[in-house]
Amino acid sequence: MNYIDMHCDTLMLAWMRKQESIFSQPEMMVDVERLIRGGCIAQFFAIFLPSPRMKERMGLAQMDDDDYINRLHGIFHRTLEMHPDAVREARSVADIWRNFGDGKLSAVLTMEDGRSVNGDMKKLESYYDMGIRVIGLTWNQENCFGAPNSPDANIMTKGLTEFGKDAIVRMNELGMGIDVSHLSDGGFWDVAQLTKKPFFATHSNCRSLNPHPRSMTDEMIRALADKGGVMGVNFCPAFLVRDIENNRATCEMLTAQLRHMVNTGGEDCAAIGTDFDGMNGELEIGSADRMPLLFAAMEKAGFTPRQIEKIAYRNAERVMADVL
Ligand SMILES: [Zn+2]
Repeated sequence: MNYIDMHCDTLMLAWMRKQESIFSQPEMMVDVERLIRGGCIAQFFAIFLPSPRMKERMGLAQMDDDDYINRLHGIFHRTLEMHPDAVREARSVADIWRNFGDGKLSAVLTMEDGRSVNGDMKKLESYYDMGIRVIGLTWNQENCFGAPNSPDANIMTKGLTEFGKDAIVRMNELGMGIDVSHLSDGGFWDVAQLTKKPFFATHSNCRSLNPHPRSMTDEMIRALADKGGVMGVNFCPAFLVRDIENNRATCEMLTAQLRHMVNTGGEDCAAIGTDFDGMNGELEIGSADRMPLLFAAMEKAGFTPRQIEKIAYRNAERVMADVL
């Protein structure tokens, strides 16, 4: 089965490991070789901005965000330049199918935490010009767009900033995907109300199966689905079951999440957003070439071939076609 994965943190991990390219990285969860072996059509590669505390731990406290972004972008581009026979950038669905027809994997550039936009619409536009097609408005801290998910109800109910609201309008105009994974519930509802186009929760699970504030309530899943959006099942153990201390991710846990998405929002809202290279644990599917196990498990769990195809790539493809 072919598939589209809407989230991985492979660029950051490669950079931390001082790698030039992500073509062959057997120590990591994702590389181009294994994506191709696993049947991937398109992989979203996030430029994830580490929080100030993470930056400090990584010895990057002094590093400017734009400098950091350029370095990760450099790894993305070097990989494309060094392996044009295997992988090509995609900025639209037409690009994905052209690449697929040429036997190539598509790499889609995205961003996780838009804080470096810094309230400047020109900066947002410059990221579009750079090829970034989906932006996760926040990570786990407040920024110019709005507030993050949080156990603190004061933060969780906070909505988008005035700039964040204007940015939704501009992103719709530009053809840039809005990603609500990591956003506060208040921010989610502002996006759901303001966006004229479908939107993404690239890597978020269901809060009724997992109480983590990162996961989405049934009302949120329905609102996302009503707008024609998609949510990608996240393989991180902490987001799968009731016990957020859980350290295991089995195929059964993943199919239970997908089943709940389908039962709640319908079969057009569920998709895949592995979060590979951004988490760890005891993972039954711990690398891109093992993805066929998920589709086999879905079949076993009673998903129809049509549902499996939608979840694997049709739904993500549809939203990209609607938005980009
Ligand atoms: Zn994330």
